[in-house]
Amino acid sequence: MTLTFKRKCLEEDCKGIVDILYEEKYGRVQKYLSQFLELDLEKMYEVGKDEGYKIIYPILKKEYESSEVVIAEKLYEIKRYWRKEEEDILEILNSVFDYTIKDEKDIIAEFSINAVCPRYLEKWSFDVNYRKSIEEIILACIHEIIHFIWFEKWSEVFPDSNKNEYNAPNTPWLLSEIVIDAILKETRLEKYCVDDKPAYSYFYDIMIEDKNMMEYFRELFVSNNIQDFMIKGYKYVLKNREMIC
Ligand SMILES: [Zn+2]
Repeated sequence: MTLTFKRKCLEEDCKGIVDILYEEKYGRVQKYLSQFLELDLEKMYEVGKDEGYKIIYPILKKEYESSEVVIAEKLYEIKRYWRKEEEDILEILNSVFDYTIKDEKDIIAEFSINAVCPRYLEKWSFDVNYRKSIEEIILACIHEIIHFIWFEKWSEVFPDSNKNEYNAPNTPWLLSEIVIDAILKETRLEKYCVDDKPAYSYFYDIMIEDKNMMEYFRELFVSNNIQDFMIKGYKYVLKNREMIC
């Protein structure tokens, strides 16, 4: 497997942001993204998606141009850092998942203006918020690679699973976001985890039957192999679904 870093083109970045904003009205991510870009969400929804693109494009263009040098420098740095750590990271991931991604598989990390960093499972690519530090970007990359391998393994464990459910807001997707914490904190990947709460922050406040959900998952992870962890974790999320959203 190789991880290729590059800069996302302005038009694609703009399209990605517009897609997120109009995907679900006034959702958690949409509110955050509109505040970040100082957009009037009411107005955006009033004018519709095509006009919304035209409003966002000049805002992004300005930042796209002003960030050119910073992004070029970061791309250079991250490529160097990744080359140094790649073998170690992949070796840990292979042992966690008991799964090796094929050598010819190429994952693309695109440096983006978007602050919420979507991933595209079918294209094996994801966006990286260029404002992050090198250490934070490495963590973001490991996080996304975990998702890719997780779903490869998932389709082995659940061969009849529907790939459409691997994206939000479906239960397999929700579980894949929860387990990020245990996989990063309870393995040797911990040394790359510069964030105390590497999964969505609201997960850490969820209590189910007097037990903190993230503690439950960390314990489940260390006491099961990856297959059983998937099966038991999935059952748990299905059972408690309404308490997790
Ligand atoms: Zn994630």
